[in-house]
Amino acid sequence: MKEGPLDQLIRALAGLPGLGPRSAQRVALHLLTQREKSMKPLMAALEQTAQSVRTCGICGNLDLSDPCRICADPRRDSAVICVVSGVAALWAVERTATYRGQYHVLGGLLSALDGIGPGDLRIEPLLRRVTENDVKEVILGLSATVDGQSTAHYLTDRVTAAKPGLKVTRLAHGVPVGGELDYLDDGTIATALRSRAAL
Ligand SMILES: [Zn+2]
Repeated sequence: MKEGPLDQLIRALAGLPGLGPRSAQRVALHLLTQREKSMKPLMAALEQTAQSVRTCGICGNLDLSDPCRICADPRRDSAVICVVSGVAALWAVERTATYRGQYHVLGGLLSALDGIGPGDLRIEPLLRRVTENDVKEVILGLSATVDGQSTAHYLTDRVTAAKPGLKVTRLAHGVPVGGELDYLDDGTIATALRSRAAL
């Protein structure tokens, strides 16, 4: 039997992150029954963003303008750059509304297993930003995984070699807000204990 538009819609939705076949059917049904309220505004938003989305030439963020709104904002502190692996991590930090510096998207992490080397990431543009501008601190906002930590070590060596005296920091690893100690893994507790802070 030939696949109709409704099957295509469900298949396209099921391919999205976080949605499986069942939730894709639920979303499709919602859109079909709420054509005016949900489906048409979604169509318009998809159409507009598909046409105008850009990768920021400075930081690598995805936005409707290049430079992106963060890089173009004069109220942001251009002396601090937070390095993240991808746009999802950038948006996650931005959601906290506590960070007022700028970003640099690497486009991944170094990984010997996946064959990702320094040339595959946006490391040279980062070194240029750090040396050519008045950057005083680089925050390594990378994940607490083997690849995240080896990327952090590599970047620390490269940026401090490119600009001696530059402050390089990383996010603290520890007990999550609302986290019960007895549910945490030993590595998290050990790291939290080592990086404990005075009150
Ligand atoms: Zn930008």
